[in-house]
Amino acid sequence: MNKSKILIVEDEPPVRQMIAFNLHRAGFEVDEAVDVASARVRIADNVPDLVLIDWMLPDSSGLELTRALKREEATKDLAIIMLTARAEERSKILGLDGGADDYVIKPFSARELISRINAVLRRSGAMESEQALAVGELELRPDEHRLMCGGDELQLGPTEYKLLSFFMRNPERVYSREQILDNVWGRNVYIEERTVDVHVQRLRKALQVHGADKYVQTVRGAGYRFSPAGSRG
Ligand code: CA
Repeated sequence: MNKSKILIVEDEPPVRQMIAFNLHRAGFEVDEAVDVASARVRIADNVPDLVLIDWMLPDSSGLELTRALKREEATKDLAIIMLTARAEERSKILGLDGGADDYVIKPFSARELISRINAVLRRSGAMESEQALAVGELELRPDEHRLMCGGDELQLGPTEYKLLSFFMRNPERVYSREQILDNVWGRNVYIEERTVDVHVQRLRKALQVHGADKYVQTVRGAGYRFSPAGSRG
């Protein structure tokens, strides 16, 4: 297996050096940037497999960088882990809505960080290798990171895309909100279960144009089920 390339975007030298040292030792190829501007130059130069982005950066916020990377075609599939000292629930949700794949709160141990990195890389690698999936009118093309419906491309946010991809790979099964959080957001992310409802609503809204929202069914008292048979439960 090739070495995964990790870009560290962190302005505080001791923190950046500590992370770089440990990632090197764990066998990763490491690149470093001290602010958003230099991160952009490094990414354009040599696209990494994963970016660690500190929340507080001198020229702009790490959240803004995350959002921008997820918006742009060339970088929208980049795996991103945000580093932050802010532990409030609200900021965690903001980070994930901005498209970060995971979230690590300072202070963290090198061991914890590396296990999070490996988990995110496994998830993003697993998604890339998936074959195109067709369910009813919907066709998910993981290689192109696109959702097609009756020849049109549907626009989905990064979280809705992951959610739909999970549903399409696991049809006809009922999942609780907690199981959905574990599978789509990752086990180490502490967010409220109602966040699942928010993203399910957004997904339904996106699918509604083509009448495919009926595939995403609410199972009262249990959770959600993706059923191409398509009658609302
Ligand atoms: Ca900082």
